[in-house]
Amino acid sequence: MADIFTLGIDMGSTASKCVILKNGREVVGSSIIDSGAGTTGPQRAFEACLKDAGIEQGQLSNITATGYGRNSFEAADFVISELSAHTLGVHTMYPQARTLLDIGGQDAKVMSIGESGRLENFLMNDKCAAGTGRFLEVMARILEVGVADLKDLDAKAEGTISISSTCTVFAESEVISQLAKEADIPSLVRGINASVAAKAASLVKRLGVKEPVYMTGGVARNTGVVRALEKELGTEITVSEIQQINGAYGAAVYGYGKVR
Ligand code: ADP
Repeated sequence: MADIFTLGIDMGSTASKCVILKNGREVVGSSIIDSGAGTTGPQRAFEACLKDAGIEQGQLSNITATGYGRNSFEAADFVISELSAHTLGVHTMYPQARTLLDIGGQDAKVMSIGESGRLENFLMNDKCAAGTGRFLEVMARILEVGVADLKDLDAKAEGTISISSTCTVFAESEVISQLAKEADIPSLVRGINASVAAKAASLVKRLGVKEPVYMTGGVARNTGVVRALEKELGTEITVSEIQQINGAYGAAVYGYGKVR
């Protein structure tokens, strides 16, 4: 029988992600472009993913879109919510997962997942930049580093300079005044990561921590935030092997379900 290829595209607020699945399981192509919905990001991610898999668009059985900009991808055959995509993605790869925390560029979501993979409950923070990737982007810009550098700086910290403001704008002024005092940058970064973790942890606690806990989204790539979250929640957190592309993976899994 011919192989079945399905493509999932996650049009996030900050990044566009794509996954191509072969026969519903094997990831044969993926891409991440650091531009989100409303830009050329989704189309570029789509083309990069086909190239990565070494296949043509005509070989795809179907395309499923998810994410913030999911309704604007014209080539999509199906559209599913981010909550569905993330739940399906993590359940397919890690059937044992009972709690999933996804922190993206503009929101944080926590999902409670049943044994059969059903989404039992969820909470979302999409009202405030604190506790999301946006907070880290703002701080990285002031520190003149990339968001990808925050984990290594955190790992070098010997202390923590706590950020007391929970509002991103006030926290930004706080970090600027710390810089003016020539504060130790790694300790400051640890405080910044801890601030995101504290905010996300309160969301998880409100929903209830059901173990084992998994994490996805771009911010899961920042091990400083993950370690701080483990401390806040008093539990181990497993970062999905496909962190930032879990939503796109879930969308491609959904598309495969539609083929059979
Ligand atoms: P969205 O789906 O909302 O676009 P993502 O899940 O793609 O969001 O996550 C984007 C966020 O991930 C960024 O705001 C940034 O904070 C973080 N991020 C992206 N790349 C990295 C990286 N290499 N290391 C650490 N954090 C990252």
